[in-house]
Order: sequence, then structure tokens, then C-alpha cells
Amino acid sequence: MLTLDQVKRKSAASLGKLHPAVQAGATKLIERSYARGVPIVITQGMRSIAEQNALYAQGRTKKGPIVTNAKGGSSYHNYGLAFDFALLLPDGTSLSWDMSRDGDKDGAADWQEVVQEARKLGFEWGGDWTSFKDYPHFQMTFGLTTEQLRAGRRPTAQQVQDALARINANESGNNNEVIITLNGHKIAEGLMDGGTTYAPVRAVAEALGAEVTYDPASRTVKLVTR
Ligand SMILES: [Zn+2]
Repeated sequence: MLTLDQVKRKSAASLGKLHPAVQAGATKLIERSYARGVPIVITQGMRSIAEQNALYAQGRTKKGPIVTNAKGGSSYHNYGLAFDFALLLPDGTSLSWDMSRDGDKDGAADWQEVVQEARKLGFEWGGDWTSFKDYPHFQMTFGLTTEQLRAGRRPTAQQVQDALARINANESGNNNEVIITLNGHKIAEGLMDGGTTYAPVRAVAEALGAEVTYDPASRTVKLVTR
């Protein structure tokens, strides 16, 4: 199992030049997806206008499939307001763009779990577009068109503050306390941190019919089933 730190490190380079609010949101998206059992990598963040033009040429004047309809300056990536993601496979290296994959076996496609979390954080999803669907893409536009951005307009301080409040409110609104049930009956309260659930051992073990003792000398919690 990959740790959250290992997962986050994979995205460090792509997060670097993003707008601070988008960067905070993308970081939160990595954390919240991980908590749902879906490790992701931000594969692309800020893209220069020259890089965007090179990408636009692909499938037009250069080889390869068309991957964007945006020329340099007309993509939110060019202003650090967009990013693309992929699923990170358990080997910690391979990426997947398989939208039907259910790696955590919870009956929900991992891709859609990420999209749900991104929406809550205030992102617009490229998969919702009608003309050219861009499934790995999320953006936060602050109501600005790329023409306005190209002309030098930027999100206001208030807009950025509101976006950050939303990103952080989401965290406190969804705190990490969890209820643990056994056969439908509550037996304990615990905490979820990243992919790990912390629970009082005695409450859980005794509910399962085990006896709990603690040996201070060896600092060992011993469970014995009868
Ligand atoms: Zn994109």
C-alpha cells in the first residue's frame, strides 16, 4: 500500500507553478481521493504558451492524435488554472486512464470518485464538456474567459479567498471521525487518516469475541480468541 506521502511526491513537479488556489485544490484532491482508496497523480499543471502551441500542432501539422482544441493562450493550463490527472496503479509507477477501473473494489469507478471530490472542491470537469470531452482535465476559471486572462485579468483577491475557504471548509465539514459498526450495530468511534482507520482495539476486539491484554514490557497488545 502506497503512503499518502509517496503518492503526493509523484505530483510535486506538476503542482509547482499552479495558481495558489488551484494548487491547494489539487493537493486536497490528491488527499481526498487517497482517503477513498484512489491514489492519483497530477500529470500536468501549468503549461507555457509555447508548450500549448506544440500540443495543438499534434494531430494537425505534427504526428499523433489530436489532444486539445486550444491554441497557445486559450487554455486555462496557460494561466495555472487547470490540471490533468491519472490513476496511480499499486506498483507506484504506472498510470492508468481506464475510466471503468475499480481498484479499491467499492463498486464505484475510481475515475468518478475523483470527479466527485473535484466538484466538491469547486473544479469544473472536462468530461462535462459537450464539444470536446477532456476526461483527465479539471479547471477553476473564476468566471474568467481565456480571452480575459490573455488580456491580463486575474481572479480577484476575494475570489481566491472564497475558493480557498471552500477547499478548506470541505475538510472541516468532512472531519476524519468515523463510526465503526459490527453487523449493523455501532461498536466504536474511530479516526480515519489517509488510508488508515484508527479505532480503540478493545472495543473492536471484544465485540468480535476476543480478549485483550497488554504487556508493557514488550509493548504488545495481545488479542486472544476463545
Ligand atoms: Zn487539461
